[in-house]
Amino acid sequence: MQGYRYDPHTHTSETSKCGHLPAAEVVERYVKNGFSGLVVTDHLHPEYLSRIDTEHDWQKAMDHYLTGYKASKKRGDELGFDVILGAELRFPENDNDYLVYGIDEDWLRSHPYMCCTSAREFYEKFHNDVLIIHAHPYRDGNLTVFEDAVHGSEIINGNPRHDNHNDLALELCRRHPDFYRLAGSDTHQDGDEARAGVILPERVHDSYQYKAMIEARRFRLWSPEFQSFVDADEAMRTGK
Ligand SMILES: [Zn+2]
Ligand SMILES: [Zn+2]
Repeated sequence: MQGYRYDPHTHTSETSKCGHLPAAEVVERYVKNGFSGLVVTDHLHPEYLSRIDTEHDWQKAMDHYLTGYKASKKRGDELGFDVILGAELRFPENDNDYLVYGIDEDWLRSHPYMCCTSAREFYEKFHNDVLIIHAHPYRDGNLTVFEDAVHGSEIINGNPRHDNHNDLALELCRRHPDFYRLAGSDTHQDGDEARAGVILPERVHDSYQYKAMIEARRFRLWSPEFQSFVDADEAMRTGK
């Protein structure tokens, strides 16, 4: 498929403790790899807040949280590359991670401590407003997947330092044919970048446009390394 490649799952070292590449460098690497854009999905969860939100001031916490995205956006704008705001939420109940799209800075600032509720509570409250995609649901043997709290799931997570059990995620999506099936690199450090993503028929410039494109199912998966999963998605989509 002709189109524009985007990575919906990347991190920055400015915001994510586990990220080892500065935002600007992540952008440069994706430009070099022929991508048109990426979504910055830095971690937002109680453990992160306990580290940076020492004054218990949500607006200050968001100032910190948005540092990586803003540095990324600045470099992206210079290079004509689309940098989109997303988030990777985790709730106190367990270590599941949820990618969220269709947000902007205002949305983050006006929903204080939304990551301190639960996956189901979050879904109940926001499922009409934002797109919620389970990141690597079965990573490292996880068994507690809340299938009723997401709109879809990654079936390809490219991160090489975890056993992501992408095969189980694909099975999950076979049980839920209505689920959006996504792919992302989960970029944290050198060598993670540009291993998986989506191909869109048009460029998207913000989180709302990206969400709309996914909801219209106007996307294909891309990952040479996980080609059998790309093919499985294609087969499910076309019914062949
Ligand atoms: Zn991380
Ligand atoms: Zn991640």
